[in-house]
Amino acid sequence: PRFCTVSNLATIINAKVPALLRNLESLGFEGLTHDYILDQENATLIADDYGFEVVLNDETGIDIFPEPINELLLQTRAPIVTIMGHVDHGKTTILDYLRNSSIVDQEHGGITQHIGAFSVTTPVSKKSITFLDTPGHAAFLKMRERGANVTDIVVLVVAGDDSVKPQTIEAIKHAKKAGVQMIVAINKCDKPGANPDKVVADLSRHEVDVEDYGGDVQVIRVSGKTGLNMDKLEEAIVTLSEIMDVKAEVEKVPAEGWVIESHLKKGLGSVATVLVTRGTVKPGSILVAGQTYCRVKSMKDEHGKVVRAACPSKPVEVWGWRDLPEAGDSVIQAKDEKLAKKVVDNRANRAKTIDEAKDVDAINKMRKKQR
Ligand code: GDP
Ligand code: MG
Repeated sequence: PRFCTVSNLATIINAKVPALLRNLESLGFEGLTHDYILDQENATLIADDYGFEVVLNDETGIDIFPEPINELLLQTRAPIVTIMGHVDHGKTTILDYLRNSSIVDQEHGGITQHIGAFSVTTPVSKKSITFLDTPGHAAFLKMRERGANVTDIVVLVVAGDDSVKPQTIEAIKHAKKAGVQMIVAINKCDKPGANPDKVVADLSRHEVDVEDYGGDVQVIRVSGKTGLNMDKLEEAIVTLSEIMDVKAEVEKVPAEGWVIESHLKKGLGSVATVLVTRGTVKPGSILVAGQTYCRVKSMKDEHGKVVRAACPSKPVEVWGWRDLPEAGDSVIQAKDEKLAKKVVDNRANRAKTIDEAKDVDAINKMRKKQR
């Protein structure tokens, strides 16, 4: 068995689950439960211990894994930013301001499409920043759950007249856990009732290392409504990304990325916004995401403009999916459609195996109860 739960393995090798769990503990696993999914290596090790031979079906093991990073190919890319903060503190207003201000630089018109992410060019340094614009940060959280940090920087929005609130604290926790760098935007500073100094003090109490108190977290006093210091916020992001030295390989590697959003468009089929994180996606590229794949038919950016090559940090709407991939699915390029199909079939089988393993658990429980 390649991917199976502890209980499923116990059934196959005729062992008792608690004994198997103890055995796994002696191998260094801690706090496992019956529904923990073992990888091939550990399942093989245990099966071998119980005198079983693991027979692998070649076809079922097929998947695509990222290639190791070639440092020589790394190039500077735009930082990817998520805006977080308590409800009503001004996240949408700030994103709208950024989106609208970027329209001014665009000869070919404004942002016409909501695709879940957009890029802006900063007013002073003329650098590019990609903002994630997904409602409820669902994709962000799902990607985090999977151990992926698509976000380089979190902008924590705190209203100057309301200060730190429960979702502010949540956001601080998320950013810390994900190891993502943070910049604080104290918003609504146009309001007479705003007290940014209190916000700084409150944040410091919640272990945000604010620069006002000698830490390294930049704090910008802004207004998403009037645009006060929004240029400073953008430059703060650029400065931080330069310190972080965010880079990616652009060429000579299979493309990778994440699905930010996806939906069915009437009469047009499945469309997904992909944020490219590595390599370059082009029309004709074969992409695998979750349990589906696509031969890229066409790509569009947030201006509705056709894109011929999407490089790292570029969000694009991708057309041509077999089925709808899910927000938070990782995307990887396959060398051809045949491989993509095999990988997708295999992933579907594996998901089924895991489901069946759960069924076995349920049946075992029922049997125990009857006795
Ligand atoms: P979100 O829930 O974090 O997305 O917050 P919104 O962007 O929807 O803003 C909530 C309310 O605060 C709206 O009524 C906004 O007009 C208002 N608001 C947001 N930013 C500012 C600001 O900088 N100044 C003022 N005066 N009001 C703001
Ligand atoms: Mg909002």
